[in-house]
Amino acid sequence: MIELRSDTFTLPTRKMMDAIQEAVLGDDVYGEDPTASKLEEEVARILGKEAAILMPSGTMANLASIMAHCPRGSKVLVGDESDIYIYEAAGASVCGGIMYEPIPTQPDGRLAISDLERAFPLEPEDPQFALPSLICLENTHNRMGGRVLPLSYLEEVRMFADGKGVPVHMDGARLFNAAVALGVEASEIAGYADSVQFCLSKGLSAPIGSIVAGTNEFIEKVYRLRKMLGGGMRQVGIIAAPGLIALQQMVDRLAVDHSNALRLAEGLAEIPGIVTHVEDVETNIVYFRIEHPKLTWQTFIQEARKHGLCIAELGHGRIRAVTHSGIQASDIDRALEIVRKLMADHDEQSV
Ligand SMILES: *Cc1c(COP(=O)(O)O)cnc(C)c1O
Repeated sequence: MIELRSDTFTLPTRKMMDAIQEAVLGDDVYGEDPTASKLEEEVARILGKEAAILMPSGTMANLASIMAHCPRGSKVLVGDESDIYIYEAAGASVCGGIMYEPIPTQPDGRLAISDLERAFPLEPEDPQFALPSLICLENTHNRMGGRVLPLSYLEEVRMFADGKGVPVHMDGARLFNAAVALGVEASEIAGYADSVQFCLSKGLSAPIGSIVAGTNEFIEKVYRLRKMLGGGMRQVGIIAAPGLIALQQMVDRLAVDHSNALRLAEGLAEIPGIVTHVEDVETNIVYFRIEHPKLTWQTFIQEARKHGLCIAELGHGRIRAVTHSGIQASDIDRALEIVRKLMADHDEQSV
């Protein structure tokens, strides 16, 4: 099966499994798991932040970060196509008493400064208004095709946020894809945000975990919230050990995923009945639509699966394909063959 539904299907490498076997362990709720501490120190260094903390998931990493930044009764500005707004079960409002204000997401994943500006009341002293206490950005942007936020834009948001006196949190689930695509260090991107989270469990191919990084004071708050949310784990070196391998060995190879995604998009663009925008493919995510008189995306997905290609819809009837360490260029060629044949078969039927 060619698995293109998500880069979360990546399996731990042999080296990761060996590292799990050999990990030095302790009770991390007591702060005594040396492998977890090592990973957290390493990430703080890589991202140029004072401290970092290992979390069970990206969802909990975002939730604890938002709760650490935002007082109850304030509002968090999030993209209306962001993972935080769409896929995280409204955690900040349920657990934190924080209101989400959805900001229109531009096709390249940016939130326009003018739209952010509108979320700030003209008379902040007026007790009727909930005040914005955080801006969240997503980089790379999943539902906007894995687009990378330009550094010039990050600088604009930084200046805007500083002017308003609110912090910026970056949901960098795929932060290292952004860094590899731009050819910069991840710390350069993270430098524009007060806090950042990234997933070890996606393209980096570790089995579990996300990490939040920020100031010492902020990470102290996240540490308490992690415990409150049920994310305090014990011999967590089991998770941290493959995480260390992920950072050492799986970052540079993301470039391969990016070139495979481009290969896929270029191939798809040539198949009649498939609509995709090759120029939008910057990282490991490709979106496309089926535009065919007889074939719906539902049928396309079902039939592709029968032929050995696993793929899924992700918003607005678009199909998303995600490349990752389990996919080679030859798998992309095979996937394209499957799609070509499937479309051709339906063309014959509709004649
Ligand atoms: C996957 C993802 C998350 C959530 O991570 P989980 O580990 O699945 O909870 C958050 N934000 C973005 C952009 C993601 O792609």
